[in-house]
Amino acid sequence: MTDQEIKQIYNSSRWQKVRDRVLLRDRYECQDCIQRLRMAAVSGERLFGEDAKIRRATQVHHIKELRVYPDLAFEEDNLVSLCTQCHNIRHGRQPTRFVKKKKVVAEERW
Ligand SMILES: [Zn+2]
Ligand SMILES: [Zn+2]
Repeated sequence: MTDQEIKQIYNSSRWQKVRDRVLLRDRYECQDCIQRLRMAAVSGERLFGEDAKIRRATQVHHIKELRVYPDLAFEEDNLVSLCTQCHNIRHGRQPTRFVKKKKVVAEERW
């Protein structure tokens, strides 16, 4: 899959529809935030501030990477709603490390 092809998928009305459906399915709640709260409840770990709540999901993430599994692009089972922060973590993009010299490749936001 080329960047161009990926862009085309994200710009398609089919993607918009699937994306909306997934967000609706997940009730616009970040699934990783839910998971984090669940884990903390089990382990007794205390969460603070932003980490103590379920943030609103604004992005839909491909569990199996789109670039590697283009067939699963519109597969709802392969999609999960995430907030920006959790999405960055999934992709190993720690916002605080962005400042470094190494230029971060601008990847698709979902
Ligand atoms: Zn989250
Ligand atoms: Zn993603």
